[in-house]
Amino acid sequence: MKTLIPLLFVAAAAAQPVTIAHRGASGYVPEHTREAKVMAHAMGAEFIEQDVVLSKDDVPVVLHDIHLDTTSDVATRFPDRKRADGRYYALDFTLAELRQLSMHERMDHKTGKQAYPKRFPATTGGFRILTLDEELELIAGLNHSTGRVAGIYPEIKQPAWHRQEGHDISPIVLSVLAKHGYTSKEHACYLQCFELDEVKRLRTELGWRGRLIFLMGGKTKADLAEVAKIADGIGPAISSIVSGTTVTDLTSRAHALGLDVHPYTLRVDDLPKGISTPEELMRLLFDEAKVDALFTDFPDVTVNWLKKANTP
Ligand code: CA
Repeated sequence: MKTLIPLLFVAAAAAQPVTIAHRGASGYVPEHTREAKVMAHAMGAEFIEQDVVLSKDDVPVVLHDIHLDTTSDVATRFPDRKRADGRYYALDFTLAELRQLSMHERMDHKTGKQAYPKRFPATTGGFRILTLDEELELIAGLNHSTGRVAGIYPEIKQPAWHRQEGHDISPIVLSVLAKHGYTSKEHACYLQCFELDEVKRLRTELGWRGRLIFLMGGKTKADLAEVAKIADGIGPAISSIVSGTTVTDLTSRAHALGLDVHPYTLRVDDLPKGISTPEELMRLLFDEAKVDALFTDFPDVTVNWLKKANTP
């Protein structure tokens, strides 16, 4: 198949905010499954997210946690493969073993209950894990068949931990991105990571020339001027942008340094305290704070809101 390399849209350059499908349409279908990605694409998300961890045989797979127990049946299928801390790690399983797992809606590791009770019924569905390569092929295929181009938004998960375990995840992810044609800022791809040292390494030692987002936890104190030297934007928690029903100055400070701001995560079924509707939250984020994109578990809600906002 001729690969359609998605270019960053003119709309993005014209500063229209965009929707990032967080782990796919994860509000409706278990996160990071093929089905969740297809649904996100059909809903019109401009970007679809991939969290990436390595298998034991160094294959990048699309999985949010370094653990497998919250989103798969690993504990019943491989009961003797947990570590001393009681957790099951993707890095301890070969791809062939990971493919035997049935993936499901997220469970709370501590309570054993479904994390978001109104979502897809937990432990049902018989979903499968995807490699990064398979997912990028899927998105390229959908871009080709629908003519609507969605970009990708891969996150390198816990690179320092991977290295400590003897695996260097970043160069492996970069090689898969290159294979699919994502190499420069012209391409509709944002690479993201929570570890500032790795963000710097990606840009320098590893030579990544595409777009780069530094993710910030709720309490991360970062020197934005330093971040702006290497990254194209920041991915802060919504709580760093909206406090109660007012907005903070983080977005304007980042914009002043040329950084885009892509906060996470809109969840219709888990709104911040004091916010009563997703529309109220999106008004604060897009209209008041003026963020450039939003991670959302409910891509249709955000796509529809932005469509209305951009219709004169
Ligand atoms: Ca992520």
